[in-house]
Amino acid sequence: MSDLSSEKKHLRRQRAPRLPAVDRVLNQPGLQAVIPRFGRARVTETVRAVLNEARAAWRAGDAASLSDEDWAVRCVARLEREAKSSLRPVFNLTGTVLHTNLGRALLPESAVTAVAALLSRPCNLEYDLERGGRGDRDDHVEGLVCELTGAEAATVVNNNAAAVFLALNTLALRKEVIVSRGELVEIGGSFRIPDIMARAGCKLREIGTTNRTHPGDFRQAIGARTALVLKVHASNYAVQGFTASVPESDLAELARGHGLPFMVDLGSGALVDLGAHGLPREPTPQETLRHGADIVTFSGDKLLGGPQAGIIAGRADLIARIRKNPLKRALRVDKMTLAALEAVLRLCRMPELAACELPTLRLLTRPLEEIHAVAAKVQPALERALAGKAAVVLKPCRSQIGSGALPVELLPSLCLAVTPSTGKRGAGTALKQLAAVFRALPVPVIGRIEDGSLCFDLRCLEDEAGFIEQLGQWAVGSGR
Ligand SMILES: *Cc1c(COP(=O)(O)O)cnc(C)c1O
Repeated sequence: MSDLSSEKKHLRRQRAPRLPAVDRVLNQPGLQAVIPRFGRARVTETVRAVLNEARAAWRAGDAASLSDEDWAVRCVARLEREAKSSLRPVFNLTGTVLHTNLGRALLPESAVTAVAALLSRPCNLEYDLERGGRGDRDDHVEGLVCELTGAEAATVVNNNAAAVFLALNTLALRKEVIVSRGELVEIGGSFRIPDIMARAGCKLREIGTTNRTHPGDFRQAIGARTALVLKVHASNYAVQGFTASVPESDLAELARGHGLPFMVDLGSGALVDLGAHGLPREPTPQETLRHGADIVTFSGDKLLGGPQAGIIAGRADLIARIRKNPLKRALRVDKMTLAALEAVLRLCRMPELAACELPTLRLLTRPLEEIHAVAAKVQPALERALAGKAAVVLKPCRSQIGSGALPVELLPSLCLAVTPSTGKRGAGTALKQLAAVFRALPVPVIGRIEDGSLCFDLRCLEDEAGFIEQLGQWAVGSGR
């Protein structure tokens, strides 16, 4: 032990002059200037941490001898780095318009303004301004949802998974819910109909087969313990070939004949008719209700193009029961969601306007000529930034709608395929490094790796000026 400590003392003696005292660095004007921004405690802590790390690095043979001013610069850089938000904007060039990992739908300006206006001021979230008494937070959007879908009533929760959960728990607790085996879906992540059903306290009664379910299957299954007939939209897959399912209107009639409610989980649920905008058709909540569904549930941030939310629309008596469920409180939405949703629903009332103002619809219907124009501007900038390091080729590609909507429909688009100029050996590593460099930009750029290239689908690139500008400030591989 004494050996060890004497050795340490020896080392310390050797090293001591190389690192300044904490106070000396702290007193540098550059650090004093940032104290109001970061707080004295945090700045002092950072100086200590930076010096400690330098000491450890020196011990490992990595010597750093800097002036007091340079130490201060290093500390400021670290404070700045740590102050960056974890949640940041990115460029979504993956070609998936509604990308769940990248935040799904982008909100229209009117929604952004509506949310911002409420954030730092009190609002009438649950206050009836006419009567001067308590109101319901659903009041702000229920009328719009009813007008757009033809429902008698509607309520809003945190997301569509919550909507399905709450509706099941309210309408079928400790009872049976009949679902076709062809619809026991898993939506990306962890939403599986059988699991949600179990957690909602319902007993799943699966009927039919994976590819074919007939009206007789439903008829046979309905009994004293049945509480609900459920249809789940095949969002993220397609059943093709020798298939049969029972149309919504037949199921509605069958359920009604037995005095049972019929619920449809639509998943995406576009309120605007996509067919009218040259896109493949997707069933709408209004159609589902017209077919006789008693309850329909759908997402706020899929094809609807709004904030994350789950909308439950349908028969007034059933919605009233759902609203009274104590779990509604645990699943309710906040004022920001309601403000954004209200603005988006108002846009949906005017389909002509929605096509240009709702980013989701605008990106999905973006003309190929416009994507071409983006490519013409971006390609030279990308080539300049990557000169000698990678080749950039413009190629046709196909964008996806995403979030489980229209899984087999792909939209013609254009991408810039970036291929590192390495030989066959190490090509995979070079590609991964290139992708990492793009992710490290101030506004990270996310593409997809395909056929040995990093592909940037330009469908969702609307801020090409911002994209080009940050490329200009950076040259690949220059000591990064
Ligand atoms: C997407 C989807 C859900 C889940 O919706 P979230 O809003 O993501 O919670 C549930 N059911 C279906 C059929 C879906 O497509």
